[in-house]
Amino acid sequence: MSKALVVTGGSRGIGHCVSLGAVGEGWDVCVNYVRNDERARETVAQIEAAGGRAVAVPADVAKEEDVIRLFETCEQKLGPVKGAVNSAGIVEPYGLMEDLDYQKMLPLIDINVNAALIVSREAVRRMSPRLGGDGGSIVLLSSVSSRLGGAGYCIPYAASKGAVDALGWGLSQEVARDGIRVNVVSPGLIDTEIQPVGRVEKDGPNLPAGRAGRPEEVAKAILWLLSEDASYVSGSNLAVSYAR
Ligand code: NAP
Repeated sequence: MSKALVVTGGSRGIGHCVSLGAVGEGWDVCVNYVRNDERARETVAQIEAAGGRAVAVPADVAKEEDVIRLFETCEQKLGPVKGAVNSAGIVEPYGLMEDLDYQKMLPLIDINVNAALIVSREAVRRMSPRLGGDGGSIVLLSSVSSRLGGAGYCIPYAASKGAVDALGWGLSQEVARDGIRVNVVSPGLIDTEIQPVGRVEKDGPNLPAGRAGRPEEVAKAILWLLSEDASYVSGSNLAVSYAR
């Protein structure tokens, strides 16, 4: 029986690694992206080369109509949605709070917070047995910065991930009896293109592990939470960081 997984931000970074790894776990993968057609196509080609089924769907997760179309397309092309990973995200604007332009914070809130809400709603609408679904698993990407605070650097980003933490915890309770598990993964510093040039090289060696994490290392935790091996895990917030 087919099981479809929606991965927002599946074209690059952590979402890309989740998309590739999901094939080995029996998922058909809906690879979402916003503008990078080439990387999304490459991701789908890699999945197909590994014997999996996948479709690339451009959609701006900050737009409700795009997210609805994303889930509808996934269902039409791949079948019932049993899993959703919300990996799309941005970090900017950087800087001290006193210097930040409010207008520049709005896209961050749209993409990191509002999108997480819409993606979660669309996932629950398809997974809930009360609405014709058959349960499922949702993983939301937060960050250790919601705990660390981002002072001097990225407080809006840290605050946006604090909202994701609350969403994951609240939703996990609301849908617990519906056979829907909801978990949050909070990575530390991970070597992806979300990082400003040079940050991984500069800060990685100063971390307790002596290096930044790899996106594949985060993907493994996400894939475990999606899987039946985590059948009694919901409402968790798993830090994929190293003693920090
Ligand atoms: P990344 O390498 O920059 O990839 C970002 C992905 O999100 C891309 O696939 C991008 O699509 C997509 N995206 C961005 N805006 C979008 C939008 N409006 N609609 C749809 N897709 C959109 O980022 P990453 O490092 O994998 O981060 C993934 C998640 O982990 C984020 O939520 C991030 O906050 C979180 N995280 C990352 C780190 C880290 O150190 N890397 C640490 C903690 C938390 P395109 O390819 O089309 O641009």
